[in-house]
Amino acid sequence: MQDADLVEDAFLYCEGGRIAAFGPMHEMPPDLAAQATERVDCTGRVVLPGYVDSHTHLVFAATREAEYVQRLQGATYEQIAAAGGGILNSARRTAAATENELLAGARQRLWEVIRLGTTAIEIKSGYGLSFDGELKLLRVAQQLKAESPIPVRVTYLAAHALPMEYRERRQDYIRLICHEWIPAVAAEKLADYVDVFCEHGFFTPDETVEILAAGATHGLAGRVHANELAYSGGVQAAVRAGACSADHLECVGPEELRALAGSAVVPTLLPGTAFFLGIAYAPARMMIDAGLGIALASDYNPGTCPTGNMNLVVATACAQMKMLPAEALCAATLNAAHALQWGSDMGSIAVGKVANFLVTNPLSSYTCIPYHFGHSTVQQVWVGGKRLV
Ligand SMILES: [Zn+2]
Repeated sequence: MQDADLVEDAFLYCEGGRIAAFGPMHEMPPDLAAQATERVDCTGRVVLPGYVDSHTHLVFAATREAEYVQRLQGATYEQIAAAGGGILNSARRTAAATENELLAGARQRLWEVIRLGTTAIEIKSGYGLSFDGELKLLRVAQQLKAESPIPVRVTYLAAHALPMEYRERRQDYIRLICHEWIPAVAAEKLADYVDVFCEHGFFTPDETVEILAAGATHGLAGRVHANELAYSGGVQAAVRAGACSADHLECVGPEELRALAGSAVVPTLLPGTAFFLGIAYAPARMMIDAGLGIALASDYNPGTCPTGNMNLVVATACAQMKMLPAEALCAATLNAAHALQWGSDMGSIAVGKVANFLVTNPLSSYTCIPYHFGHSTVQQVWVGGKRLV
């Protein structure tokens, strides 16, 4: 992750939407120069792989800035939730919105993040809090996937919070998810993944493993919201279930590191959330030094991270979690692509991979990308060899 593998004064040659060749300019085969139909002069600029945002809740009905101001004035999350705010607020607004309204909002946000350099994205449901509500979100995500100029993976966040009426009979709710909802979502091909919010007071590690096993039976690979609020056992559950990723990981210690070492689970950190909530950051340094290949994602959602700006995510990872610029860029591109099972096809400048890349403004070094925090140095966005921005 520390090796940026920089090629100075380079050429990049694309053909059929894929990267066909790259290397130092003086090594460019003369026939390539002759047959190129379009040329872009990138003198003084950095060309880097496009961002892959492997964790978002992009489809939502309304922003929650009033709660943000209440929190700044000292209200706790519990007080806001008790007054009808929080996830319940999002769920209510989602229920009231039509599919077209949800799609219009999500489409606008998708184009906003594309302009900031996101070239592949994951979108979760989760604000439905009822089966019909979840189906509505998944259908909107699928419509977005069908029209999107960038690749999209859709995740069914089957277990986000336990509804009140199931407090005394959790097992009935888990059974409903495993034996009715997951099969229905899979049959309609509405999702690529299933996800569980594994935290104290939400879903236990055993329940998480049970739900992810049901997903696997129906062809949906697993993801886990893990160890955000406490040492919940979510990381170990993700490893036991063979999930693709364990996301959040603010609370990670030696036991979690041992569980992740040698597993195929991609530990995914979401520093935008810690920034916005003012909570402790995930121990990225400790995880990298333990040999883990971590990914970075935005967690774009209306409650805890209302930004999908991956430039800011990378900058926050550097400034607050002490990741080096090369590490943060690797985490936000190649490692995030692996978290979405796209690693062999995207996430780096490599011959044969899809030509998804960014061209920055003139910069003295790629390290200026996180250095100019809060800015986007991205000037051009290329996806499948076509310029989108
Ligand atoms: Zn999330």
